[in-house]
This record gives sequence, C-alpha cells and structure tokens, in this order.
Amino acid sequence: MRIAVIGTGYVGLVAGTCFAETGNTVICVDKDESKIKTLLEGELPIYEPGLKEMVQRNVAEDRLQFSTDLPAAVQSSLVCFIAVGTPPDEDGSSDLTHVLAVAEAIGKSMNGYKVIVDKSTVPVGTARKVAGVVGAFTEEPFDVVSNPEFLKEGAAIEDFLKPDRVIVGCDDPRVAEIMKELYAPFVRTGNPILIMDVESAELTKYAANAMLATRISFMNEMAKLCEKVGASVDGIRKGIGLDRRIGPSFLFPGAGYGGSCFPKDIKALLKTAEENDLELHILRTVENVNEAQKCLLVDKLKNHYANDIAGKSIAVWGLSFKPRTDDMREAPAITVIELLLEAGATVRASDPVAMDVAREIFGDRITYHQKNYEALEGTDALLLLTEWNEFRYPDFEQMKAMMKEPVIFDGRNILNRRRLEETGFTYYGIGV
Ligand code: NAD
Repeated sequence: MRIAVIGTGYVGLVAGTCFAETGNTVICVDKDESKIKTLLEGELPIYEPGLKEMVQRNVAEDRLQFSTDLPAAVQSSLVCFIAVGTPPDEDGSSDLTHVLAVAEAIGKSMNGYKVIVDKSTVPVGTARKVAGVVGAFTEEPFDVVSNPEFLKEGAAIEDFLKPDRVIVGCDDPRVAEIMKELYAPFVRTGNPILIMDVESAELTKYAANAMLATRISFMNEMAKLCEKVGASVDGIRKGIGLDRRIGPSFLFPGAGYGGSCFPKDIKALLKTAEENDLELHILRTVENVNEAQKCLLVDKLKNHYANDIAGKSIAVWGLSFKPRTDDMREAPAITVIELLLEAGATVRASDPVAMDVAREIFGDRITYHQKNYEALEGTDALLLLTEWNEFRYPDFEQMKAMMKEPVIFDGRNILNRRRLEETGFTYYGIGV
C-alpha cells in the first residue's frame, strides 16, 4: 500500500517506519524543515531505542521517504495518516489547529479516493470535523477513520509491531477491510483489530489513558497513607497486583506522572465532559493528586532542611518523564527543578539522553553533567526522578564520598534503602 504519514514526531515516525518495515511504501511528511533535513541526513530528531537502524534499513530499501511536500505525498498515497501534535489549549481542551490545518491541506491536494486516518489523540467529534474540512476543499471521494495510537515512548517499536489491540473507528466495512489489511502483519499472534463507530474509537484512547493515570494517582495516595501508618507501599503494590482482577501494571507510586499524553489527555477529557455538562469527579481528583505529587519530593527535601534550602546544592538524576526517552514534556523534573530554583537552591542535573532537551528548557539556570556521579559533587542531597536502569545499582560508597550531605530522595523507589542506610545515607522514598 502507498501511505502518507503527516507529522513525523514520536508517533508518526514510528508508525511510518513500521508500515514501511512490512513492505508498504511510506512518505513521512513534516512541516518542520529541520526535522526532515535531519532525517534525510540519516539522523533521528528524537531518541527512541532501535528506531534509527529500522529507519536506515527502510530508507535504503526505498520504502521510506521524508519530505516537506504534503500535496505530493497525499497525491501518491491511498491512506493518509494524520499524526500531528494535539497540545492542550489554554482552557485544557485539545488544540486541533494542527489536525485541522492538515485536513485542509489534504483536502486541497486530493486527486482521487483517499482513506484519511486520525492517528493523533483527538476528542470525540474530531473525525467528523476533519471530514467537514476536507470536504470543503474537494469534490473527490474520501473516508475518515479514527485509529488512535497506544504506543509507549521507550518501547514504541515493540508496541507498534505487537499491539495488544488495534482500534479502528469507521462507518464503512470496505474501509475497515483496508485498515485490517494494513494492520494484519502486526496481529498475527491473534491480538484483535476492534472495529467500532468513530466516536467510540476516539473516546477509547482517552479512557485508556484516564484509567492508567487513575491507577498511578490511586497508588500515590496509598503511598501517602503508608507513610502515616508505617506500612510499605511496595508490599501493597505486590499484594494487590497479584490479584488477577487488578494486575501488576501501573501500580508504581512515584514523583507524579508526566509526558506528552497523560496530563494533556486527562485535561482534554475533563473539558469534553464539561462541554457536555458533566463533571468527572474521579478524573478531576486524579489530576489534583498528580499535581501535588510532583511537589512532594521538594516538600520532603524542605522538611529535611527545616524549610530552608536556599543556597543548597541539589543533584537531580533523571530528567525525562520516563526512562528510554528524551521526551521531557510535562516531566515531573520540570516542576521539581523550578521549585528548587525558586527556593534558592542550585541544581546539578544528569540524564542519559534528555540533557539537550533540558538545556532548551533551563538554559544556564542549572548545570548539566554527562556522568551521573559528577552531578553529585559537593551536593546537599540527591533527588532521583526517573527510573533509568543505569541509576538502579550505583556505588553508594563513591556517592557518599562525593556528596557534602548523604541524603537521598528516591522518587521512584528503586534504590536499596537498607544498604544506603548502612552506608550512612538518610533515605526518603515514596510510601516506604
Ligand atoms: P510530536 O510533537 O512529537 O510530533 C508532531 C509532529 O507534527 C511535529 O514534528 C510537527 O512538526 C508536525 N506537524 C505539526 N503540524 C504539521 C503540519 N501542518 N504539517 C506537517 N507536520 C506537522 O507529537 P507526538 O508525540 O508524535 O504525538 C502526535 C499525536 O499522537 C498526539 O495527538 C499525541 O497525543 C498522540 N500520541 C502520542 C504518543 C506518544 O507517546 N508520544 C502515544 C500515543 C498517541
């Protein structure tokens, strides 16, 4: 099949590359010329494990191209994916400017029948809006499909090639067949392609993220209670996770959820409910709990230092919102570092891949250290914010020798508390 993927970010680049990997001819389009230039030079504008090799292989086989020429890509394709960003608007609703701009550009470029697929996460009713915009600019026939994406950054290729399920929202069985054909190579082990109406498909994506965020905020509240009553949230996590009705995923308390999806999708869903005269009480609380959670480590740090951290030097390990990605959108590290700076502390940061992104956010307001141990030099505390594997088993003796005060705030509960305390550290975790 000939495919255009418009928007070459975390989702578009992975989707386009994986479709090329199964033999399709794919053109990935972006309006960001520097992104396309980087890709044409054989480099990647983002970090995603395994993606670079896959991109290079498919480019070499002429199955994958990169371009800023949207009309040409649309004209040479049957299926056009819209995978542009849908950031939160000022009022929390999903900003559809990019999606609708692409819809207009597709409408103006049509030269025959097209399947237009909303891959971006968009509120209920967007596929109908896209159809309206495309139809305003063309007489050519087309269908609009909702096909939300569930990949996780850091494991995006695996998720795309082996999805738990594929959701396709469309009204016409013939279009459903085209989508099934496209996804067939990824569901050979029997995972389902669920065909449903467009509105349900659009809402399924938000419901999934809302449920996952709810589990995290629930566990963060449990962790707080554990600290009050002297229980350990880790035991509780394992104890409930083994119940098959609950399952073990997304039960880890921490420094708050972040990323480009959960925060904005929760806000957008709340807004959709509000527009329909409905208050989603659970989700409102999920969001409030998370906002407070992002401040928790700094609160603990202040508490440790009798509410005065002015002049303290603080090491921060982990800047990306989760491991194996350089994505810092809505990362807890942003809130934490801003709070530290506001309180007059200085920050020495380290992250395996997100430092360039962090430089764009903080500039020279903090210092950056390629080696995580170097960030510890002369510090009054370490805040661990992202559970990168390389942070799991550090040399505690070496750390203690480098720090001025051996105090650790483990925002992901990944360090061995007993051994740290034996080494002379004061340890603070989340709910342990
Ligand atoms: P991103 O910001 O990484 O990429 C979006 C790209 O679209 C950018 O490169 C931007 O330049 C491009 N773009 C914007 N307007 C354009 C236009 N008019 N023409 C061509 N290109 C244009 O975003 P992302 O993380 O890939 O997310 C894309 C969508 O997928 C969002 O709706 C997001 O919610 C959803 N999603 C993201 C993830 C994730 O893990 N990142 C997972 C599932 C779903």
